[in-house]
Amino acid sequence: MRKPIIAGNWKMNKLAADGARFVMALRDEVPEGSKVDTVICASFIHLPFLTEAARDTPIRIGAQNMHYEKSGAFTGEVSPEMLENILVDYVILGHSERRQFFHEDDELINKKMKAAFENDLLPIVCVGESLEQRENNETNQFVRNQVKAAFEGIREGDAKKAVVAYEPIWAIGTGKTASSEDANEVCQTIRETLRELYSDAVADEVRIQYGGSVKPENIEELLAQSDIDGALVGGASMEQESFLKLLEAG
Ligand code: 13P
Repeated sequence: MRKPIIAGNWKMNKLAADGARFVMALRDEVPEGSKVDTVICASFIHLPFLTEAARDTPIRIGAQNMHYEKSGAFTGEVSPEMLENILVDYVILGHSERRQFFHEDDELINKKMKAAFENDLLPIVCVGESLEQRENNETNQFVRNQVKAAFEGIREGDAKKAVVAYEPIWAIGTGKTASSEDANEVCQTIRETLRELYSDAVADEVRIQYGGSVKPENIEELLAQSDIDGALVGGASMEQESFLKLLEAG
């Protein structure tokens, strides 16, 4: 049985003190042995405060990006080693906003995947099609290629630990959610791709999230699907009340 994983992606929102207060308040709500894995992914500047606020709890903290090198002359960048050093556990890689606004391509995302595992970080690697691709029936092939490229050269023992987030670009921040059946179909494609690349063990172990306008009203139906093991949530993760409802549904 795969344990559901609900991750909030705050994107470029909140100030550090507000973020820390949010996690402090969450401490009482996420007990040891909780039936879902709870992750908050925030801006770099929040992370040391959040890992401190989450100390000795099952709440896990994630970054939203990183560089692939350990250190060096890369002004303005943050390395995997720096994240690991402040007790960050997860890192979102290849979010569509990174692909779209910061020109991240599959090759770069693959380098970051390798760097994450080398530094004991767990990647949440994002894939998903545009509206045009969906309308042209290219979704499954496109997502399959994104998965193959992201996992190129990743060892089986590492691949198992990855989380894949299926986020159709047209559903992000738009209020439009993929129907749970359509979302599940693409999540199945992702799982079958991992089965072809690796083994039944990897395909059956990797957790696949859906992301794109997930909210308390639609999460139960999404999580009831056979291949959706959690959610990567933007807007509805920003308020304590709605985030808690998402966790309860997990
Ligand atoms: P929304 O939940 O705001 O649509 O954002 C989804 C997302 O991009 C999470 O990474």
